[in-house]
Amino acid sequence: MLCSIAMTPRLFIEDDLAAGAALSLDGPRAHYLRDVLRLGVGAEVLLFNGRDGEWRAEVTATAKRSLELGIDMKTRVQTAEPDLWLCFAPVKKARIDFIAEKATELGVSALLPVITRRTNVERVNVERLRANAVEAAEQTERLTIPEVREPVSLERLLTAWPAERRLLIADETGGGRPILDALGDARPGPWAVLIGPEGGFTREELDRIAALPGVLPVGLGPRILRADTAAIAALACLQAAIGDWRDATPRRWPDYGGAVERGNLMRGRGEQG
Ligand code: SAH
Repeated sequence: MLCSIAMTPRLFIEDDLAAGAALSLDGPRAHYLRDVLRLGVGAEVLLFNGRDGEWRAEVTATAKRSLELGIDMKTRVQTAEPDLWLCFAPVKKARIDFIAEKATELGVSALLPVITRRTNVERVNVERLRANAVEAAEQTERLTIPEVREPVSLERLLTAWPAERRLLIADETGGGRPILDALGDARPGPWAVLIGPEGGFTREELDRIAALPGVLPVGLGPRILRADTAAIAALACLQAAIGDWRDATPRRWPDYGGAVERGNLMRGRGEQG
C-alpha cells in the first residue's frame, strides 16, 4: 500500500465504489493513512478496485484502529490494461520483487512464474508478489491490479498455451532477431513475454518453445542481462513498438494537485469536450 507520486494518496481496495458510499478501513491500511501519512478528517484519498474506476474520498472520522471514508465523486472511468503477460523464471527475493513492481508499472495484465530446468528458486511467495503488484499499481495510477498466477512448469505452460496469444521469448543464445526488427511486423493483440532463469534456458527448452506456433524469439543486445533487467527491457521495447506507449501520454499539469486530464477522466474539472 502506498500513495502516489502525486499529492493525493491512492489506494486499492476490494469494496464496491459508488457515490455517497461510506467505507471503514482497519488494519495496516488505516495505520498507514492515519499514522504514516498523518491524514486527518477532511483529507482526500483516491480509491480504485479494478472494476469501478477511480473515486475521490474524504476521511470522515478516525479512531484508534480505524478510519472512515466517505466516497465523493468519480475521477476516472474504468479502463483495462493491455492484454500482456509476463512469464518469468522466479529469481531471488529482491529481484523477483523488482520484477513484479516494474512489470506492473510497465502495464502487464498478468504475472506468471514459470519453473524451468535451471530455475534455482524453490518457493515463490505469490502473496508477496501480489502485494508488490498492488503497491506498484497504486503508485503508477493504474486502475487494475495484474493477476499473479501460481507457479507452473514450463512444460505445463506450453502445453496449455492459448492459441491466439503470441509469445516473445528473450533468447540469450542468439537464436532470435534483434527485438525491434522482430517486432517491426508484429501486430498488437494478446502477447506474452518469456524470460529465462539466471542459468538460462536449456537447448531442449529453447527447441520446445520454438515449436509453439506464434513464437517470436528475440535478442536483447550483445550483453547478457540479469533476468530482471531482461524482463523490463523486453516489456519496454514491446510496449514502445506495438503496445500502449504508442498512445499519447496524458497531459498533466505539474501544480494541479496530481489531477490528470485524459480521455478516461470524468469531465467536469476544467476543460470540457
Ligand atoms: N546464464 C545465462 C544467462 C541467462 S540471463 C548465460 O550466461 O548465458 C536470464 C534470462 O534473461 C535469459 O534466459 C533470457 O531470457 C534473458 N536475457 C538476458 N540477456 C539477454 C540477451 N542479450 N538477449 C536475449 N535475452 C536475454
